[in-house]
Amino acid sequence: MDKNGYFGNWGGAFIPEVLHQTFEDLKREYIKARQDPAFWQEYLSLMSTYSCRPTPLTHAENLTRHFGGAQIYIKREDLNHTGAHKANNVIGQGLLVKRMGKKRVIAETGAGQHGMATATMAARFGFECTIYMGEVDVQRQRPNVFWMEKMGATVVPVKDGSRTLKDAINEAFRDWVTNIDDTHYVFGTACGPAPFPEMVSWFQSIIGQEAAGQIQARHGGMPARIYACVGGGSNAMGIFGRFLQEPGVELVGVEAGGKGIASGMHAVRLGGTDASPGVAQGYKTMFLQNEDGQMLETHSVAAGLDYVGVSPILADHWEKGRVRFESATDDEVMEALDLTMKMEGIIPALESSHAFVQAFKEAPGLSPSEAIIINMSGRGDKDIFTIAHAFQDPSWKAFIIQKGLEYSK
Ligand SMILES: *Cc1c(COP(=O)(O)O)cnc(C)c1O
Repeated sequence: MDKNGYFGNWGGAFIPEVLHQTFEDLKREYIKARQDPAFWQEYLSLMSTYSCRPTPLTHAENLTRHFGGAQIYIKREDLNHTGAHKANNVIGQGLLVKRMGKKRVIAETGAGQHGMATATMAARFGFECTIYMGEVDVQRQRPNVFWMEKMGATVVPVKDGSRTLKDAINEAFRDWVTNIDDTHYVFGTACGPAPFPEMVSWFQSIIGQEAAGQIQARHGGMPARIYACVGGGSNAMGIFGRFLQEPGVELVGVEAGGKGIASGMHAVRLGGTDASPGVAQGYKTMFLQNEDGQMLETHSVAAGLDYVGVSPILADHWEKGRVRFESATDDEVMEALDLTMKMEGIIPALESSHAFVQAFKEAPGLSPSEAIIINMSGRGDKDIFTIAHAFQDPSWKAFIIQKGLEYSK
């Protein structure tokens, strides 16, 4: 990151003047923490006692045999507290908030996963917590809203605009501007104004640091390729980070192909031609937008990948050719998920399943002496409503109707 928060042509910090000092303070604390080995030690200690670090690297022997090519390894971020890599980010920011002496955190959430993780962290650290969520998402994600409230967070349904994620982001910024003194905005991914993209990537870099040691011990060398799904880009940056310096390791980001790129119903920013450079939500990246800079509707079966922007750090690696971008359609995702459950007894999140799709396409073309790593960003049992619906399971449908009848009595 340069002194203006850019990575090559991407990033920056487009923020209202009133937030200028807050961002300066945050940047200073973040840089101080990075230079203080005691901070990382405290982070590791908390992650190993409150979450489940180090997470295992699982050799998927059955899938490896099935595809008959590269050795397939899975980095198990699903085994983190709250079931995904998001814990790495929120716990790190929580420690930073403690250092800054602030008492209140706010966050935006779409599917509710980041809100859940933030509410958990706030309860653990004793912070007051407000979560902004589009009204439509509040209705769609009732289980997450239920848990957030039970953990003491206030969930505010946002009634503006399309009443989804981008409106929740705007509302969270509005809150921050009026409560700068005691409040920190826990940004959920490697996007937004500097220093968020780099800071979130730093907390997530623990994934790649562990994976490098684990693959060395198990495989006796570096992997040929690493696959990660890309929503905002934080789990991808997390596992890619340590390997950027290894020229022999190919890094592959997989975006949400939705109903197919040609349908327009997707969230493919870097792996297609529908996105264009723009500035929104405080930073510059490749956005899915129309000619007037209005954000387009995105679609994915995986709520966590359904986003118009992408990490400016990944945009830079894309432009420089260091990371290759592919996409997986909703149908391909369901197929890869089905196969992984049946062959390994592992349920990847719909988001993570995108990375599995691309790995499965490429594994047969590699040799058994090579290894690949799939970053399994989260677990899929949270997605039971979507997955059961997508598999068109009739007994699940009957169960939901029955429950509805019971509760309405
Ligand atoms: C939120 C989420 C993602 C997408 O976020 P990134 O910042 O791109 O990592 C991916 N997988 C899971 C399981 C998630 O919960």
